[in-house]
Amino acid sequence: MKTGKVIKVSGPLVVAEGMEEANVYDVVLVSENRLIGEIIEMRGDKASIQVYEETTGIGPGEIVFTTGHPLSVELGPGLVEQMFDGIQRPLAVMRSLEGNFLKRGSSVVALDRDKKWDFVALVKEGDEVEAGDILGTIQENPVVIHKIMVPPGKAGIVKEIKNGSFTVKDIIAVLEKDGEKTELDMIQEWPVRRGRPYTQKLDPTIPLVTGQRVIDAFFPVAKGGTAAIPGPFGSGKTVVQHQLAKWADAEIIVYVGCGERGNEMTDVLMEFPELIDPGTGESLMKRTVLIANTSNMPVAAREASIYTGITIAEYFRDMGYSVALMADSTSRWAEALREMSGRLEEMPGDEGYPAYLASRVADFYERAGKVMSQGAEPREGALTVIGAVSPPGGDISEPVSQATLRIVKVFWGLDYALSYSRHFPAINWLNSYSLYQEKMDEFFDANISTNFSLYRKRSMVLLQEESALQEIVRLVGRDSLSEGDQLKLEVAKSLREDFLQQNAFHEVDTYCPLEKQYKMLDIILSFYEEAKKVMDTGTYLDEILKLEVREPIARMKFIANDRLDSLDALKERMITDIAALGRGGNYA
Ligand code: ADP
Repeated sequence: MKTGKVIKVSGPLVVAEGMEEANVYDVVLVSENRLIGEIIEMRGDKASIQVYEETTGIGPGEIVFTTGHPLSVELGPGLVEQMFDGIQRPLAVMRSLEGNFLKRGSSVVALDRDKKWDFVALVKEGDEVEAGDILGTIQENPVVIHKIMVPPGKAGIVKEIKNGSFTVKDIIAVLEKDGEKTELDMIQEWPVRRGRPYTQKLDPTIPLVTGQRVIDAFFPVAKGGTAAIPGPFGSGKTVVQHQLAKWADAEIIVYVGCGERGNEMTDVLMEFPELIDPGTGESLMKRTVLIANTSNMPVAAREASIYTGITIAEYFRDMGYSVALMADSTSRWAEALREMSGRLEEMPGDEGYPAYLASRVADFYERAGKVMSQGAEPREGALTVIGAVSPPGGDISEPVSQATLRIVKVFWGLDYALSYSRHFPAINWLNSYSLYQEKMDEFFDANISTNFSLYRKRSMVLLQEESALQEIVRLVGRDSLSEGDQLKLEVAKSLREDFLQQNAFHEVDTYCPLEKQYKMLDIILSFYEEAKKVMDTGTYLDEILKLEVREPIARMKFIANDRLDSLDALKERMITDIAALGRGGNYA
């Protein structure tokens, strides 16, 4: 191991000389305490090192060891159900070793070395395999089948393959290529700052169904797509994230908490294990990997955490799974970038963020995607990335929000005013958008109903008209509106209250299947059409609004998901009741 010497310490930034052998992004160990750091800049023989632990007490003259390896993660059985810090040290192990406060320089392996896993081989001796091929599987827990793949860059004829109970470091296969043998265990290492390889990126054409009406029907995200959600305090961000983690049709969830205030992270650590996965009845943790920076780690450690998270997510994508990664909050990550950039005395850009902020944000989101894996029989996997941003004061004109919005394809605009008026989820339908809309429309129209996208567009027009009409109402009062416009307001209100509002804590309403979403829109819009018809022949709006059928419409969201035919009956009843007004009307 080569060594250098510290010449300067500035918070998490340490400068060392005598480092000519080292490269940018190599991991180094600083001082005899062996604090873990990563080289972020080289100038001649001087290395600027981002240290992932407190540097108090470290001074010039101390030794720096270079490892010659980039910051990497261990990928293998034992990832799910784990909570790691930003450089993949398991929090539980660290805590048991050293009490609640992590000692500096703790080197702990990421994956348990003693635990045995039942490996079932899928290849046999003599088979020829290439990178990405599945050697065998492990039932990691009741929910997750872990596929042990030939690591990138490896290939050959299977000389030996085992079956049985092994630790991650036991050799389970031996490959031979050109007379050279490669022994494989169940761990792959991968440098976090490089995306894992795949053979082909595919167009995201299938929605990540979430069961949340405002998301699926109005602002859908594709499997393999990207979305951003701003999180003003108290706007319901946590509930939205929990709902996505519980209900989105992703097989694996990676949740990266990059250094929100210490106590908020504790909330996540406490809450996630308590969430029950509705699909399996097991703890949600069974298919979740949590990356959480504890509050006693310096800001710089946040910077690594999103890369650690996304590399783990890519690994499960390569197995052919649909993976959803949630990063909360990318603003904290950007602040870590800003802090390091300041200490490096780089030329500051907008609001002190480095000029490369936008390209870093883009590089991160570009690791999302629907891809065909490597291997002779490629698997289709998807990695959907949902990043929370926390703009100061909720003002999304700031650099991190702007850099994010330039790259992500979906924006769910959480709105404090909506949550204040208890409209949940507080996603503002007027400023949110999804650039996957067209592709998702094709999917919904082909798979749910040919009218799905038409109904969404009509609903959106009504909601936009409502916003304009409300301006007029504010100025001159509701009575100045025509009956037709007043009907529009009523229907838009119904869209907001009976469709968009969704109670995350109601047994039935917490998840709304696509078919039900469609039927609900159909009822609301048919009400509008039928009402217009009878009003054309002289029925008063008041009479329509007094109809008793409006009551079950307001409660239709609570109709059990296996009794959707009662929505058809409700629609029939509504049509009959409104038509009856027309026949009995004075001027009919
Ligand atoms: P934030 O994380 O933005 O501070 P939370 O997600 O904790 O806010 O939400 C604050 C409160 O709003 C919750 O405790 C809950 O009462 C209410 N809430 C948020 N979303 C919903 C929802 N979809 N359904 C019902 N209540 C909600």
